[in-house]
Amino acid sequence: MSHRDLSDLELRALAFVDERELVRDLVNLIAIPSVSGSDAESDVQHVLAKQLTELDLDTDLWSLDLPRLTSDPAFPGWEATRSEAWGLVASSGEGEPELVLQGHVDVVPSGDLGQWRTDPFTATVDGRDVRGRGTCDMKAGVVANLAAVRAIRSSGIQLSKPYAVQLVVGEEDGGLGAFATLDRGHRGKACIITEPTSGTITTANAGALTFELRVPGVASHGSTSYAGVSALEKFLPLHAALAALEERRNRDVHPLMAEYPVAYPLSIGKVSCGDWASSVPDLLVAEGRYGVALGEDPAAARTELEEAIADAAAADPWLRDHAPTVAWTGGQFASGEYAQADRALYDLVAAAHADVTQGPRPRERGAPYGSDLRLYAGAGMPTLHYGPGDVRLAHGPEEAVPVDELVAVTESLVLALLRTCR
Ligand SMILES: [Zn+2]
Repeated sequence: MSHRDLSDLELRALAFVDERELVRDLVNLIAIPSVSGSDAESDVQHVLAKQLTELDLDTDLWSLDLPRLTSDPAFPGWEATRSEAWGLVASSGEGEPELVLQGHVDVVPSGDLGQWRTDPFTATVDGRDVRGRGTCDMKAGVVANLAAVRAIRSSGIQLSKPYAVQLVVGEEDGGLGAFATLDRGHRGKACIITEPTSGTITTANAGALTFELRVPGVASHGSTSYAGVSALEKFLPLHAALAALEERRNRDVHPLMAEYPVAYPLSIGKVSCGDWASSVPDLLVAEGRYGVALGEDPAAARTELEEAIADAAAADPWLRDHAPTVAWTGGQFASGEYAQADRALYDLVAAAHADVTQGPRPRERGAPYGSDLRLYAGAGMPTLHYGPGDVRLAHGPEEAVPVDELVAVTESLVLALLRTCR
């Protein structure tokens, strides 16, 4: 790359960003299948703690007190059950960090292996992309966080103010790790979460609430189906009511969310119904995710869905007397917003990105999914997402990250650290 508006000091640090090293570190990290709730989720924290200690940072690696954290009224929820989990924070010095680089180390399961071209946890370099589970969501971001610190350390440049790396588990199923990190008292004056934003900066998250809908029926032999009540058929008007609710809630959305075809999706992800082909099913259980609007109280959003179900049930002769139930299970992500009044962090990251890419300042937008952003923003820290990869590839069998974005983000983080902590 050629450089514009960069000081000699900045050029000195950027010289220690090494593309081959970044790719190697990413491939190694993908090989640890740190699916949320798995043993490998704990293993990866220990591997990364060793790397952070080798960078001569003060490392806090601690075992989470799961009974206490999960019984806290503010606990954000989880879907994977764990008997152990680890927190990991590495700081360059005493005092509140000027800047925190944050990333989650857990990944979602691989899904149907038949849809993958290769083993999900054996990363492959494919042209200018690295492919594999967790590449963009978000091990490339984790690698960038460490590599930016490594570049600063290797350059020998002394930063007078402290900075920190915070690596968390359990982001994918609710935010256990971020909650525990804040609970332990770790803070910072500003936080960059290197979730994939493909050259944009995300300053707000919609929320997402996981719910379970149970629809009753009456079993009978399929040959006399008229003698029973099919829970599947009773689900259909409820499903239509949920679709109408989604449509209503997406008519007029926040400007940061306006680019999305559906800003706040309501989507059923899992349906189980019946246990025998020639029986009328007596129960349907549908599980889904429900988008929470920017600035919306999750409790109000829950009430709106419960009312939509109750209204649809009231219109059906069977459901009127056999009410379907809604339960709020698993991850409960409120929406979150980076303080719009404080533009310093956005300006810092936007200028750094423009300087390393020699392009325009990145576009600002909201994201339609929940993340740790809302927990950090809720704790009073200006927080945004800026990281390598395209979130549309996350959680799918084509998950990949462009090496060029991994390099550019790492370089931007180097500049952000230098410009904040000198
Ligand atoms: Zn993520």
